[in-house]
Order: sequence, then C-alpha cells, then structure tokens
Amino acid sequence: MGIVDVLKGLKDKVLDATTYELLRRNFELLEENNQQLKDRVDLLKEEVEKLRAENLNLMMKNAELNAELDMLEEDDEFVMYQGLSFKNNKSGGVDPQPYCPKCHELLSTVDNNIFICKPCEYTTSVFEHPIDIAKKLSNEI
Ligand SMILES: [Zn+2]
Repeated sequence: MGIVDVLKGLKDKVLDATTYELLRRNFELLEENNQQLKDRVDLLKEEVEKLRAENLNLMMKNAELNAELDMLEEDDEFVMYQGLSFKNNKSGGVDPQPYCPKCHELLSTVDNNIFICKPCEYTTSVFEHPIDIAKKLSNEI
C-alpha cells in the first residue's frame, strides 16, 4: 500500500497517534528518497556535461583524421604528369581522362592540347595525347 492509499483511507477520519507516526515516517522516507534522486540527477548532469565535452573533442579529432585520410587517399588516387592529373585504376595503371591537379575535376579540351578546368579555371597545355600519357604511366609502352 502506498502513501497515497494510506492518505485516501484517512479521508474524513481523525488521525490517531499511530497513524500519524506511520504517515510521518512515510513522508520522511519519501523526503530521503527525493534527496537521493536529486543527488543522482546532479551527478548525472555532471556526467552528461563531461560526455558532451568528450564527444565534442572526439568529433573534432574525427574530422581532423578524416581530413588527413582524404589527403592520403588523394595522394594515392592521382598521379601528376605534365600538369595533368591522372586517376590510378584498380588494375595498377591510370585512366586516360585528365583531371585538374588543383581541384581534381575532369578537365575540358577541344584539341587534346589545351586543357581547361571549368570550376577553378586551371589551364595547361601538353604535347602528348592523354591516351599516350596514360599508357606511359601504366607502363604499357
Ligand atoms: Zn580545377
């Protein structure tokens, strides 16, 4: 029987000493319980703050490591030749499409001599056809 049920049972009745003591003890216990819960909430709030700070640090560290990984992967992904970047492929060679060495977007050309990067305006000219360069870089010649 909970304290509320005890109280309901006492409605419109005169409180005797025993019931009063029982109620008082019950309220004391509830108060102690409340205090313990409040202490626990304070502890958990501190814990939440600690975890938030830790999470923020880990997210920053994760972003740093991801940026580092991107740089390392890019180093592996492209090979530069005569101002053009070529993408390494899975068979150990390079693909013949030339990429911008600055932003790694595909380069545009009309004559396979002058290459322009539309997004960053990087421009270069080469005297070898990209297909020949790719073959050379893939050790096929
Ligand atoms: Zn570019």
